[in-house]
Order: sequence, then structure tokens, then C-alpha cells
Amino acid sequence: MGRVLLPFEFYEPESVAEAIDLARRHSAPFIMGGCTLVPSLRRRQRREPCLVSLARIPGLDDFSIHPRTGMRLGAKVVASALLPHIWAGKRFAALHEACEQLYPPHIGNMGSIVGNLCSGVPYFDLPTAAMALDAELHVTGQGGDRVVKLEDFYTAKFQTVLSRGEVVTQVFCPPHKADSGSSFKKIYRSRRTIDDLHKLNAAAMVTLDEDRARIIDARVVLGSWSFRPHRYRAAEAVLVGEAPNFDLFEQAADAVLAELDPVTDLAWVEKTRFAQCRVLLRDTIAQAASRAKSRHDPFEDAAEILEDAS
Ligand SMILES: Cc1cc2nc3c(=O)[nH]c(=O)nc-3n(C[C@H](O)[C@H](O)[C@H](O)COP(=O)(O)OP(=O)(O)OC[C@H]3O[C@@H](n4cnc5c(N)ncnc54)[C@H](O)[C@@H]3O)c2cc1C
Repeated sequence: MGRVLLPFEFYEPESVAEAIDLARRHSAPFIMGGCTLVPSLRRRQRREPCLVSLARIPGLDDFSIHPRTGMRLGAKVVASALLPHIWAGKRFAALHEACEQLYPPHIGNMGSIVGNLCSGVPYFDLPTAAMALDAELHVTGQGGDRVVKLEDFYTAKFQTVLSRGEVVTQVFCPPHKADSGSSFKKIYRSRRTIDDLHKLNAAAMVTLDEDRARIIDARVVLGSWSFRPHRYRAAEAVLVGEAPNFDLFEQAADAVLAELDPVTDLAWVEKTRFAQCRVLLRDTIAQAASRAKSRHDPFEDAAEILEDAS
């Protein structure tokens, strides 16, 4: 870091159509808060002679969060905007927690949620959390609109399915069944490089049946292990149909570990990382299940009804 930025042209369009046109004509990336983009330009990891800012486009900072209709976050919504929102904390807890745990915290005032998802950085937290919530991205480009599931969004390290001139206008997390709970956790060390072996993050969503006795749906996601977060369906299969309990959560964590390849040839690093990963996954699933079990709250339902009526 510490190197000066090379000169670049900077456009500030006032509509999505104009932004798309400029990005295509100049083969330029979009910029929002610049928290990923500017450091990569400074480090010369990227060379971009032209940038197209989304900051002046109206409407992209809209967001709505409701248990019945889901969560919609426009492209300009920064991570800290989610924190005071009661429904975000209760019904979309995984993403709320990931935003809350951004470090240093002031990054959340500048960095957009969509920008974090679009960066394609393997160790970022929000993709892991959003994937557990089954998020999808609304993309607009010259060829029209399309919706891309976050699971299908990443193609390689720092690469996504977006082509130049395609802009993500919003991220949508669908509403979940009543007895669902989600959770996000990470193991974080201050050393932050692409090869940082100490960073791990996990997110889970668990849905219980009406009696809250058995798991009827589960999503288990581990991030920072490969170039993108992954869902582990074998672990989800371990959980579905069973009564939630600690042994079961450990079995699910083991099912994830069985699918992981070592990322170094240093045996002691791998041993530590696998051990950390097991605990992280077990506790994340346990917390999601515990939230699913305790979430049903008559006061919460009353608040929902009042909110609908107003
Ligand atoms: C010091 C520091 C600490 C951080 N700590 C954490 C952390 O603990 N956990 C974590 O997960 N992240 C962390 N981050 C990452 C940070 O959260 C992201 O950099 C930020 O959220 C990105 O949003 P932005 O608006 O700044 O994106 P930008 O930097 O403006 O853009 C990022 C990328 O996304 C593209 N892009 C942005 N918006 C759109 C759009 N609407 N459509 C299409 N493409 C788009 C850009 O072209 C660019 O390639 C940290 C960053 C810094 C600098």
C-alpha cells in the first residue's frame, strides 16, 4: 500500500442507463465506496483508466426489510445501515451479524453490501452470510435484466458472472418460514493478506417444523477456504429430519470437513485449521438452531401485524 493512485477518468452518471452506457463505452468498472477498488488500484493489482461512480444515481439507496416480503437492499446501501434495523437482526441475523462484525467497524459506513458481494474476494464475510440466506442479485445491463443466485455468482478468485457494463442494482434475501434461525461467525486475526490462513467464516440457516422438534430445512456455508463460499449439502442432509442436538451439529461439521481439501502442505497449519473449522461450523449451526427454536415470540408477531396495518 502507500503508493499513489495513477490518474483516471471519473464519471458520475445520474441514471442506471447512463452508468451502463459509460461503463460499456470505456470498459470501466463501477465504484461505490471504493473500499475494495481503491486499495487494489493503489497496490497496482488493478489498472483502471476510467471509473463509473454509482453515488449520484437516485433510488439505489432504497432498502426494505420485512419478515413477510424479505429483505431488499439497493446497491448503495452500506453495511452499517442494517445494524439498527430490528427485522434485519431478527429474521436475517446471519447478514446482520456479518455487517456488525466488519473490522474495523467504520468500514461499514463506507463500504456497500453489494460492493462487498461484487468484489469476489475469497475471505470477505458478507458473501458467506448472504449465501446462507439464499440471496440473489438483480443485475441490469445493456441486454436487459437478470436475477443471479449468489451461489452461481462467483466463477474464480475476484471473478464473477458480471460482464463490463452490468450493474447489480439490488440484493434480495427471500422471506423465511416462521421457525427459522440463522447465524454467522468468523475466526479473525489481524493479519490480512490473500493467503491469510487464519481467517475462516461460516454461516447457517436452520428451519424447524411446527412443533420445533425436527429440522426440516438447513443451509450450511463455509467461506475463506477456497476462492468462494460453498454450501455443503452433505452436511445439510445430516441435519434434515433430525431433532436438533449438539452431537448432530458435530456430525454436520464433520460432513463438511470430509469434503475439504488441505490448502497448504504444512501439517500443523492444516491440523489447526481443520480443528478451528469444526468448532466454528458446529457453533454456527447450533446458534442458528437455537434461534429457530426460540424465535417464536407473540410480541414479535403482534409487531408484525401492527407494521402491516400501518
Ligand atoms: C480496512 C478494511 C477492512 C475490511 N474489513 C472487512 C471485514 O472484516 N470483512 C469483510 O467482509 N470485508 C471487509 N472489508 C471489505 C469491505 O467491506 C468492502 O471493501 C466493501 O464493502 C466494498 O464495498 P464498496 O462500496 O466500497 O465497493 P467498491 O470498492 O466501490 O467496489 C468493489 C467491487 O465491486 C464492484 N461493484 C461495486 N458495486 C457494484 C454494483 N452495484 N454492480 C456491479 N459491480 C459493483 C466494483 O466494480 C469493484 O470491483 C474491509 C475493507 C477494508 C478497506
